[in-house]
Amino acid sequence: MSMKQTDVIIVGAGPAGSWLGLRLAEAGIDSVLFDREKFPRDKACGGGLSQKVIEFLPFSMGEVVERQMTGAWIGYRNKYVLVSDFGPAGGMVMRDTFDDFLARKYLEAGGRFFDGASVDTIDETKDGCQIEAAGETWSGNILVGADGASSHVRRACGFGVHRKLLAALAAEVKPSEKVMQALNNRACFDLSAVSGGYGWIFPKRDHLSIGVFTHHRGLDLRSHLQAFCNTHPLLRKAEVFRSRGGVLPVGGDPRPVQKGRVLLVGDAAATVEPFLGEGVYHALLSADIAADVIIKHLKHGKSLGTYADRISDMIDDNIARASRFASVFYGNLPWTFPLLVKNRIIARAFARDIIGKSDFKGCLRHCLIRLPLIPFAYRRETSRADELA
Ligand SMILES: Cc1cc2nc3c(=O)[nH]c(=O)nc-3n(C[C@H](O)[C@H](O)[C@H](O)COP(=O)(O)OP(=O)(O)OC[C@H]3O[C@@H](n4cnc5c(N)ncnc54)[C@H](O)[C@@H]3O)c2cc1C
Repeated sequence: MSMKQTDVIIVGAGPAGSWLGLRLAEAGIDSVLFDREKFPRDKACGGGLSQKVIEFLPFSMGEVVERQMTGAWIGYRNKYVLVSDFGPAGGMVMRDTFDDFLARKYLEAGGRFFDGASVDTIDETKDGCQIEAAGETWSGNILVGADGASSHVRRACGFGVHRKLLAALAAEVKPSEKVMQALNNRACFDLSAVSGGYGWIFPKRDHLSIGVFTHHRGLDLRSHLQAFCNTHPLLRKAEVFRSRGGVLPVGGDPRPVQKGRVLLVGDAAATVEPFLGEGVYHALLSADIAADVIIKHLKHGKSLGTYADRISDMIDDNIARASRFASVFYGNLPWTFPLLVKNRIIARAFARDIIGKSDFKGCLRHCLIRLPLIPFAYRRETSRADELA
């Protein structure tokens, strides 16, 4: 069997792997991307992309965004408030088409993509690594694990197990046409659906993606999802047609994300934001940082060791802050819901942070400047299904 050669071997063609490959191809660096699934492939996900993802990617997403979002209903104990009026909130995608779209962008940029090609054998060598996939042996200067939450590269190259995992279960449902039309471009988050997290309803082109997300391990998410479906005013009598669960690895603490000539990106590097469980943005951002570091290494001999510092500065600080906020918020809903969500000024400030229009400091500044107005900014809530839709 002859050995094939490349600069960078990328394992996993989720958003992190394809974006990394695309950035390398544009810089004239040769890479090969492998995914064990045949594309387009499904992925357990709500498919909710916040506006910062839409703005991060430099091409039109019109082909894959099924709905542009303008706001969300947020509910607790059957009372809902509408948080909107802060500009475009994000887009809803199906992960099979979104991930396929990104992989095709990589191919168009000149990359090589082998799907249905699981990377099971990995050998680290003095000058790089060797892997076997689809009956061929490949040798590369650098290996990148973009292979998701249960990363094989992570295990095979001795990065250890993830320290913190959150859990989520997603499903697709077909509601009545009336509910689809009425919900329109708004998502719905229900803070009573599961402890330590929320239930979500995301409108897609012709159906809803729903699910439950929690910080509490060991919960029976299937029964929580069923109860959410049976009791939520928008979901009653809706037909559930697919459900898939998964874990979301959360870092935020100092941890190895690079060793020698091996780098981890996205879920493999535990970059999920823990307040919402949003993983796609940090998957793309970590891949972008990895691309910068690899390009400088291969073109100018700079160290790969700067990768961990940049992940720490640009991602881990956010994760650590979001983790602290999540435990206060979800752990004290009887006062955090009325105080933070029902207040138009505070909720708007947090929403701007989430969609990437501001950062956490900007969010606090927004509230402080408007401090005298906050007591007058509490809004009406509703529990009526027709109003909710
Ligand atoms: C139920 C659920 C709902 C979620 N909802 C959202 C949401 O609405 N919005 C959001 O932003 N995030 C969401 N997330 C998180 C998000 O899905 C992940 O953070 C994101 O997909 C990470 O991207 P990635 O590229 O790192 O890995 P992935 O998207 O997981 O891609 C990894 C790829 O690696 C491949 N692979 C694995 N092992 C191998 C191997 N040995 N050889 C070759 N290929 C391999 C896999 O087939 C896969 O295609 C959700 C997660 C779950 C579990």
